[in-house]
Amino acid sequence: MNACLLAIDQGTTSTRAILFDPRGDIRGIAQKELKLHYPSNGWVEQNAEDIWRDTRDVCRGALAQAGIKASDVLAIGITNQRETTVVWDRKTGRPVCNAIVWQDRRTADFCAGLKEHEETVRQKTGLLLDPYFSGTKVRWILDNVSGAREKARRGDLAFGTVDSFLLWHLTDGKTHATDAANASRTLLFNIRTQDWDDDLLALFDVPRAMLPEVRDNSCLFGVTGILGAKTPIAGMAGDQQAAFVGQACFAPGMVKSTYGTGCFALANIGADFRVSQNRMLTTVGYRLNGKTTYAIEGAIFVAGAAVQWLRDGLGIIKSAEESEAAARSVPDNGGVYMVPGFTGLGAPHWNPHARGAIVGLTRGATAAHVVRAALEAQAYQTRDLLRAMADDAGFDIGELRVDGGMVRNDWICQFFADMTATPVLRPKVVETTALGAAYLAGLHAGVFSSLDDIQKNWQCARRFAPAMDEGARESLYAGWRHALKQALV
Ligand code: ADP
Repeated sequence: MNACLLAIDQGTTSTRAILFDPRGDIRGIAQKELKLHYPSNGWVEQNAEDIWRDTRDVCRGALAQAGIKASDVLAIGITNQRETTVVWDRKTGRPVCNAIVWQDRRTADFCAGLKEHEETVRQKTGLLLDPYFSGTKVRWILDNVSGAREKARRGDLAFGTVDSFLLWHLTDGKTHATDAANASRTLLFNIRTQDWDDDLLALFDVPRAMLPEVRDNSCLFGVTGILGAKTPIAGMAGDQQAAFVGQACFAPGMVKSTYGTGCFALANIGADFRVSQNRMLTTVGYRLNGKTTYAIEGAIFVAGAAVQWLRDGLGIIKSAEESEAAARSVPDNGGVYMVPGFTGLGAPHWNPHARGAIVGLTRGATAAHVVRAALEAQAYQTRDLLRAMADDAGFDIGELRVDGGMVRNDWICQFFADMTATPVLRPKVVETTALGAAYLAGLHAGVFSSLDDIQKNWQCARRFAPAMDEGARESLYAGWRHALKQALV
């Protein structure tokens, strides 16, 4: 039997299509690297037309690689880099300018000027006023692209995050929609009422006429002909929410943490919206059959990127994999700590001015200590996030489900467990983002009858149990808090 689910995984640095069989095993995969443009200090852009072209190519490529016919694809699920903002012309489908990527800081001053509104924004959206989210990016486009605001008011322009833009093209311009999880990252969507919010639209000066319709994460979004048959698009979620579903975090208290370029941890807090008291974000985990499950989210902007820097910036390792042997080659960190604030610090600090630091250097310090410090930093930051989440949610976190490129490193997984005093579980399928999109599509297509059904598919490949004694753990952690203070001044 060849029946498959196709996940489109449109990430920041690449676009992939992955075919899963109904058990969640990978049957085919195709990928294309995606270029980032840095036209000015702090600006990060992408060409949305490249994104669409690559998406079409990898979808066809994955089918060809697996030898699977279009008619065998039961449904498509889309997952995407979140917050990245596209504005396009409804007549031509062409973007009016490059997409503004989530990492772009051009609206920092505008956000700073709105600080008096932050509490209102938090109560409605669960977010903070930061350039990271889409709202101020749309406004920037309307203010800076000639004639854009007038056209947007007339309804001639469409706004969307990457999911919406792809859906629009996949359906030949028939469907302009998004899902509740992606919408919850725009600063324009009220996550209590589950609707675009008129006060927020006024605050950011964004006309309602350009917004997509917001749907559940699993439903019929449209039908596409790009594979050569009529294929339903039945699942959609931003990357972290898709990983949340792929890790089957369906009960309150369940937490996943993804360690790729950055690190994003999401904790399920159930059906009741709650504003974080610890400068974490509240977000839509998923919405199914009109019922919203909320999550508390902590974002660390630099995780695996610190390992890339060890390789490319310092040249002290030749590959990311080498970091594991280097960390193991020394008995401890030798008092060396790294605060990876290369682009400022995210949750719970939200300090765009903080910068990276390596502290505690002595004549005994070696390259291996610095590598170890970069890896250890991810665990200290994870502990900070988990503590804030547990406090916000009012429950203890019993286990941490991890995924992303970094967790191939066994040493770091063990150190996560040791430093957080929490068991760390690495699943069999680590492509949890794409898997989550496939699950959402499969749920609508009838491949899975319920979330329980999906939960049964989740398999643990390795469990890392905490093994460090409390004294050692707390002494290491005190060293991190000390280093952090120095980076935050
Ligand atoms: P993304 O989806 O954000 O592009 P991935 O999930 O593919 O990221 O993870 C890639 C990141 O993981 C890179 O930043 C890389 O430095 C890091 N990485 C990959 N393998 C290892 C390893 N064995 N040890 C530590 N870091 C690793």
